[in-house]
Amino acid sequence: MLVLGRGGGALAAAIPPPRRKPALRVPPLVILDPGHGGRDPGAVGRRGTQEKDVVLDIARAVQRRLAGSGQARVDMTRSTDVFLALDERVEIARRAGADLFVSIHADSAPNLEARGLSAYTLDENATDDFARKLAQQENLADRFAGLDRRGAKAVAAILNDLRARHTRDTALRARAALVDGAGRTLRLLENPMRSANFAVLRAPDVPSMLIETGFLSNREDESMLRDQRQRRRIAEVIADELASLAGSALFA
Ligand SMILES: [Zn+2]
Repeated sequence: MLVLGRGGGALAAAIPPPRRKPALRVPPLVILDPGHGGRDPGAVGRRGTQEKDVVLDIARAVQRRLAGSGQARVDMTRSTDVFLALDERVEIARRAGADLFVSIHADSAPNLEARGLSAYTLDENATDDFARKLAQQENLADRFAGLDRRGAKAVAAILNDLRARHTRDTALRARAALVDGAGRTLRLLENPMRSANFAVLRAPDVPSMLIETGFLSNREDESMLRDQRQRRRIAEVIADELASLAGSALFA
């Protein structure tokens, strides 16, 4: 039997050390969160367009294109017409160890003239009345939850914690990149970057943002969101911006 001695001798010296493989970059994990679903229709436009359907369609198209880019791994909180409580959405992202959480909506705006895309991050103090009202309305989604979920354990946002600060910083930079990119081709709401106390953005360890693709309370936005080609266009822009974000140094 051939026994090789440990640690040395001529034989060991002759064998070149194993070459180090270049570290393969694991693409960041993006969780897309189509708002509402099931018994919660979300906003309903004058022509009967339901937010839950519009945002699911957009999110699915974003997923296909973003996953296809190879820049990100992509998963969804829901891919069918089911209801999820807000804290369940947050938990899905946290459990998956998501690098970015993107909630997709097309709500009713506080005023009928408001239209265009906008993006929101978490802040206990809203940037303005518009964002505050939007968050209040959005947080009411849990009225459709079972009794056990209603008012359930809100994820504590420990905003002074270092990790939470990093989370918040990343979310702000992601929001800016998305809005800047989307603004080149899509109509934006005035002051398209805002923040408010959205329950669905409260994961302290997952950078989170909410995109209002448009507002179903506005006639023009509703017409746009009813049109499949327009939804594809919005999805393409969001997917492409998320792809370049995922490939950027922000998630290196
Ligand atoms: Zn919504």
